[in-house]
Amino acid sequence: MTAQVQAAETLEDVLLELRACRVCRDEPRYLPPLPHEPRPVIQASVTARLCIASQAPGLRVHASGRPFTDASGVRLRSWLGMGEDVFYDESKVAIVPMGHCFPGYDAHGGDLPPRRECAPLWRSRVFTALPQLELILVVGRYAQAWHLGPKAGAKLSETVADWRAILAAPRMPRVLPLPHPSWRNNGWLRRNTWFEEELLPVLRAEVARLVR
Ligand code: SF4
Repeated sequence: MTAQVQAAETLEDVLLELRACRVCRDEPRYLPPLPHEPRPVIQASVTARLCIASQAPGLRVHASGRPFTDASGVRLRSWLGMGEDVFYDESKVAIVPMGHCFPGYDAHGGDLPPRRECAPLWRSRVFTALPQLELILVVGRYAQAWHLGPKAGAKLSETVADWRAILAAPRMPRVLPLPHPSWRNNGWLRRNTWFEEELLPVLRAEVARLVR
């Protein structure tokens, strides 16, 4: 009897299918359906050693189709000590949001959370197809809950404050939690000066090594 071996899915296969995904508009598991045409945003390549696990595109990113083409991206790149040339080099940096499409606005004009359909559908397939990742920067509480599970604190502050232990944990890829670079976290950044003084220098050294 001949054993049948299932070929591993390539990243190219996954990206092709992901970019055509219309589940949240056409067959949503959670109501209401996405009220606009989905435009899945992702940056990935099999050679990337660094991954930014982010939240969900805002309207500007939905319009551009590229991750972090907004004020949050400017701040994130300054945290990383990285120019756009490296940040958008998919052979070096993967950017995988928890929800790949702009989720729309809530009643107060804020962005809705990432669509709940997205991570269970795509996340393990995408990460299985990224074999060279060494470090995942988990940006914001949704990505932290997914990638850290019970090790994520009840609040984002607790999780980020525990960054040394999380980074030192024996797993591959390693994980480093960050707050979302949105202006909404300006108050948090002012109150937690250790983030810039202690965490950012370590982040920049790790990142520089991985994108060299
Ligand atoms: S948010 Fe995710 S699951 Fe929903 S349509 Fe976009 S890619 Fe598909």
